[in-house]
Amino acid sequence: MQARRGYSCTMPRPIQATIHTQALRHNLQSARARAPDARAWAVVKANAYGHGIERAFEGLRGADGFALLDLDEAQRLRALGWRGPILLLEGVFELRDLEWCSRLDLWHTVHHEAQIDMLAAHKTNVPQRVFLKMNSGMNRLGFRPEHYRAAWTRLNALPQVDEISLMTHFSDADGPIGVAKQLAAFEAASLDLPGERCISNSAATLRHAQCANDWVRIGIALYGSAPDHPEHRAAHWGLQPTMSLRAQIIATQDLLPGDTVGYGSGFVAERAMRIGVVACGYADGYPRICPTGTPVLVDGARSRTVGRVSMDMLAVDLSALPGADLGSEVTLWGAASTGEVLCIDEVAACAQTLGYELMCALAQRVPVLVE
Ligand SMILES: *Cc1c(COP(=O)(O)O)cnc(C)c1O
Repeated sequence: MQARRGYSCTMPRPIQATIHTQALRHNLQSARARAPDARAWAVVKANAYGHGIERAFEGLRGADGFALLDLDEAQRLRALGWRGPILLLEGVFELRDLEWCSRLDLWHTVHHEAQIDMLAAHKTNVPQRVFLKMNSGMNRLGFRPEHYRAAWTRLNALPQVDEISLMTHFSDADGPIGVAKQLAAFEAASLDLPGERCISNSAATLRHAQCANDWVRIGIALYGSAPDHPEHRAAHWGLQPTMSLRAQIIATQDLLPGDTVGYGSGFVAERAMRIGVVACGYADGYPRICPTGTPVLVDGARSRTVGRVSMDMLAVDLSALPGADLGSEVTLWGAASTGEVLCIDEVAACAQTLGYELMCALAQRVPVLVE
């Protein structure tokens, strides 16, 4: 067996995810370049989209603030030494959370009357910075436009409240419906209210530059995935992969015509061919739904999966790759160690989902290296 490349000998299996610090930095710059006058929230919810807050921090510390949902994650950012703004995108869930906001100096979203009640009941001498959210059409969080002003007036009267910023979120910034209707609703209902504006996510920042105002909220673009794939690829937006999932071939099989591969005999060889069995399965976060033909890189060369993904393994076609053997590197998404790129969006499309879901689902058992 060829020597394992780049894996510690204590590792149980030859699989590893790599987080690319320089690519995070680069993607933040690429996104900022689309909104040069806005300050940028780096959205790091869901443990930095599966990358790990501690692992992503170095690459993202050039942001103006961090946006997330969990108090635990906010606490971890403070423990890393981040003293700048942190915004809770869903605001507080109970009264006690407001004490944490005071203690950790967190800004928080107010999207519901109940949160204003909590603020009114909160005992503090230090007023809190809030982002008042409008439901401009997505119907997830926020006050409807016709109730927005009343919510602002009520908040503004509270001694517990400092500056109020105005915020909304787009449902269709990534596609043909666009942002015009929501933007008009937001602007009409907030017209003469004072305060900073914050409305764009990644898709709006990249595709609808006119929306960029005081703050933009950049999530998926930081992590090298195009929010509007397949209309545009990540490279179109100047984005680089920030997470690479690589494993090795741990077995090969020579197939005869009619031989099948994997559970359910899901693949039938039409002719003699060679396959490699890779130390990556759905328990590592690789989607089981990926069909035969999902792209992979074997030693940097494009190939495809064959047969069903099992818990700990999947098979790849080596027919056109006579040099591939035990120990060959298989990149499931991201960059091969030789630099070739397989965009996570391509794999996600085969799994009928988005790059977001694949990153977030990277399994705990996969060892992660930061470089
Ligand atoms: C997650 C989130 C974002 C970031 O969205 P991306 O599509 O990843 O850029 C922005 N704003 C809010 C309110 C969010 O919940």
